[in-house]
Amino acid sequence: MSSVSLSFITLADVCSSEWGYADHNGPDHWHEFYPIAKGDNQSPIELHTKDINHDPSLKAWTASYDPGSAKTILNNGRTCRVVFDDTYDRSMLRGGPLTAPYRLRQFHLHWGSSDDHGSEHTVDGVKYAAELHLVHWNPKYNTYGGALKQPDGIAVVGVFLKIGREKGEFQLFLDALDKIKTKGKEAPFTNFDPSCLFPTCRDYWTYRGSFTTPPCEECIVWLLLKEPITVSSDQVAKLRSLFSSAENEPPVPLVRNWRPPQPLKGRVVRASFK
Ligand SMILES: [Zn+2]
Repeated sequence: MSSVSLSFITLADVCSSEWGYADHNGPDHWHEFYPIAKGDNQSPIELHTKDINHDPSLKAWTASYDPGSAKTILNNGRTCRVVFDDTYDRSMLRGGPLTAPYRLRQFHLHWGSSDDHGSEHTVDGVKYAAELHLVHWNPKYNTYGGALKQPDGIAVVGVFLKIGREKGEFQLFLDALDKIKTKGKEAPFTNFDPSCLFPTCRDYWTYRGSFTTPPCEECIVWLLLKEPITVSSDQVAKLRSLFSSAENEPPVPLVRNWRPPQPLKGRVVRASFK
């Protein structure tokens, strides 16, 4: 045996599995391995509604999702994610600030250790209990990976969750969490149309930003829905019943996974409504 195959491993590769939300590896440290995390177009942000102007050129948006395109639900140690078949135009987001139809790839949530915080974006200082992100990509860039490199490659619809009455549609999703308690678990999850989680009102704010998790790529057209949906305290508590640890590790509850607001740095937020 004379040939030895070595693959290059970068520092980021070694540490990419290490980022998280704890003191030693949380949002304040992400830029050490992902310098763009201190870039000019980072998310989330604080929304100050008095500073946001209505843009009458912003159109209405529509989502037409195929429930059969939902595939699996996954615990990656940092959130729970539902993954969709995005190999063709099946579940699509159109209109709003978008110049093309975007394909739904996945949705996931961010939440906090108690009901009084957990959302990533804030509205006039209000922190909601959780925030749902539906991630779509522009197929004109051919692949999801290609879209990540474009300033308008990804469109994320953000939905705020506030505490109140239980939401039945959300429970369909929550019931599946029992199958993915620990990091690395994945289970089939299909026949689900996530538009059942949208509020009645389609008003939104939009701005250019980034993923709120490393590598924090600046490729996102955000559509943040003004009207929150209402879920019960027990339902958000169910999210906190997940673990960020694997089955064979000492249990670590996944009780917080939100990034705090980042500097606006001159960006303009627009509203679809007066
Ligand atoms: Zn997210």
